[in-house]
Amino acid sequence: MKTALVTGGAGFLGSHLCERLLDDGYEVVALDNLYTGSLANIKSFENNPAFTFVKGDVTELDLGALDAAASRADGTVRHFDEVYNLACPASPVHYQERPLFTTMTSIKGVLLCIALARRDGAKLLHTSTSEVYGDALVHPQSERYWGNVNTIGVRSCYDEGKRVAETLVSDNIREFDVDARMVRIFNTYGPRMHPQDGRVVSNFIMQALRGEDITVYGDGSQTRSFQYCTDLIDAFRAYMELPKEQVRAFTRRHALGAPVVNTGNPGEYTIRQLAELALEMLPESKSRIVYRPLPGDDPKQRRPDITLAKELLGWEPKVPLAEGFAKTIEYFRRLAK
Ligand code: UDP
Repeated sequence: MKTALVTGGAGFLGSHLCERLLDDGYEVVALDNLYTGSLANIKSFENNPAFTFVKGDVTELDLGALDAAASRADGTVRHFDEVYNLACPASPVHYQERPLFTTMTSIKGVLLCIALARRDGAKLLHTSTSEVYGDALVHPQSERYWGNVNTIGVRSCYDEGKRVAETLVSDNIREFDVDARMVRIFNTYGPRMHPQDGRVVSNFIMQALRGEDITVYGDGSQTRSFQYCTDLIDAFRAYMELPKEQVRAFTRRHALGAPVVNTGNPGEYTIRQLAELALEMLPESKSRIVYRPLPGDDPKQRRPDITLAKELLGWEPKVPLAEGFAKTIEYFRRLAK
């Protein structure tokens, strides 16, 4: 039985990943400080004997402390075959609430995972973000684009933390031959999103369900591409299944510098279209669309170029927006009851 560590394992995406790994026959340790994650997210599998939840903060743990916290019931220290680094608040509202903590989570979290991967010879999947492209001047965004990122703005704590994390992974591959892979995740949604995380999908659905105003920021002409959570988990698993040599050869062939691929759904929508979709899918809603000021450094256009992920992983997203939206609405409807 393979053993996996998932940092951020009680979060929106982390919990979906833990569930998939358990289904795939892994022993899974989820590490989470519950800042944005929640025990409700892991409830459906918390009693699975192959699953262990460790409440802990990647900014406070070194390898010794992690070993102690994640050891088996009989006291033996776990060694990991695979490490998935997902710990970091990811919604603008949450990460801007504690910006210093956000940056440190990115940096210390990835360093902890790298140390573990080096010690155990584990495969490491580091989750990065489309935010490394900032307010992109190239559209759609491909992995070769270096980004247009403000170092001193309100989003910088997240963007720059994630950028330096990519650098740390890349240099550990070059210097120490760590078997790491990276994904840049574009906007992802689905059940287990935090209803108050302030992100556009959760906000619009919650507002439409409660009959509150649907708050479009700016004029709503900015675009995003929305990926359903299970599509992303498929990409994670496909990436980790690949042997190191194949990942290395791909990276060399494409002169990428380090193994990083975009993961997202290339369907692109304006935020106004998304507000209209929420109302269309909840025709009984009494909500109306209102316009509010655009937050600082809000990217204007975002769509992933997923050519590389398609080639490397033989993967592309399957779930259309209307189908994923319907499942997400059902989740929030149950929560609201
Ligand atoms: N947004 C909006 N209304 C909301 C929440 C977000 O219009 O209630 C906009 C936000 O300004 C951004 C887009 O929706 O242009 C996506 O925001 P989100 O916070 O989901 O993620 P981001 O891609 O900005 O990190």
